[in-house]
Amino acid sequence: MEEWLEQDKNSIRAVDRLREKIRFSDEEIEKLPGICDLFPLKITPYLFGLIDGDNSDCPIRRQVVPDLRETIVRKDELDDPIGDKNTDLNNQPVPGITHRYPDRALLYATTVCGVHCRYCFRRSWIAQETAPVSDDMKPAFDYIRRTKKIQEVILSGGDPLTLADDSLETILARLFEIDHVKTIRIHTRMPVVNPYRITGKLVDLLVRFSPVWLVTQFNHPREMTPFAKERTSRLIDRGVPILNQTVLLRGINDSADILEKLNRELIQARIKPYYLHHPDKAKGTAHFRLPLERGIRIMRELRRSLPGYATPVYCLDIPSGHGKAPIQHNYMQREKDGRIVIEAPNGSRHIYSDE
Ligand SMILES: *Cc1c(COP(=O)(O)O)cnc(C)c1O
Ligand code: SF4
Repeated sequence: MEEWLEQDKNSIRAVDRLREKIRFSDEEIEKLPGICDLFPLKITPYLFGLIDGDNSDCPIRRQVVPDLRETIVRKDELDDPIGDKNTDLNNQPVPGITHRYPDRALLYATTVCGVHCRYCFRRSWIAQETAPVSDDMKPAFDYIRRTKKIQEVILSGGDPLTLADDSLETILARLFEIDHVKTIRIHTRMPVVNPYRITGKLVDLLVRFSPVWLVTQFNHPREMTPFAKERTSRLIDRGVPILNQTVLLRGINDSADILEKLNRELIQARIKPYYLHHPDKAKGTAHFRLPLERGIRIMRELRRSLPGYATPVYCLDIPSGHGKAPIQHNYMQREKDGRIVIEAPNGSRHIYSDE
């Protein structure tokens, strides 16, 4: 069996196995299994190996180990927090597709993920049967084929790289033969949670259907292991570009220092920081969220300390399905007398005239 499949097969799915490394309170031992009934536990042995068992605030642990606070559901938290299935907006024209921006569509390839991230915005259907994914992807492909304004298809899920090579090949080949589809994007956490997935065969496959862009999700510098960097470099060496989206998570990476370190590591690995996502209002995830002002402040500091191309765009996915909006500090202000005040990265203010 290939190593990445072995990692998947040997993933930790029961709270008992976490106790090999993590000490839980009596209340946790009693209640965590029930929490895993709502959203199953899944951690690859590789990622489990990165957890610091002595530190209850370990940033890897907090992302994947269930937490008692997941039972607290706020009124404005939803099963579908960003309106992927919002019927009023007709965001899901056929099963398996979310089409929100005219030129690009999401195609759900699977409900399976490499690990289960506790803050996940799709946690209501990851690994569940209620997912907008069916074995029969024909309606989805027919929709893409007849909707000529779609120039990019984004494979999402679930994690598309949990599919076997031949399933992935079939999907890529079907997209590749549609003339108006010019680029394919794959959203995946596998390079972070199961880097073994980047086999020589996978690299060949993605190169064959070029241009394929890979978008991964490194959230913390501790995830940038030599192994993950070695495997992602195999793709980049062969011309498969990699972008990174980070989810801003309270108590995990919500500091300018951590994000500076992460983004520097990313550019050293030739991975381009793309988005910093404000966490979505999925059920039972309030303990991961933080005020937007805090994100804005962190971004202002990053703007000062990082090269422009190492600075991601901070964005909010507007609840109920209206799309992503960039959120940022306002560097420009027009005074009543018509003059403009511009703020420099170091905070100093300067008059500018656009007359
Ligand atoms: C995020 C998202 C995209 C991709 O948006 P980009 O800004 O191009 O990365 C496309 N479709 C849907 C439904 C999305 O949620
Ligand atoms: S990999 Fe993505 S879709 Fe899967 S559980 Fe994590 S955040 Fe959710």
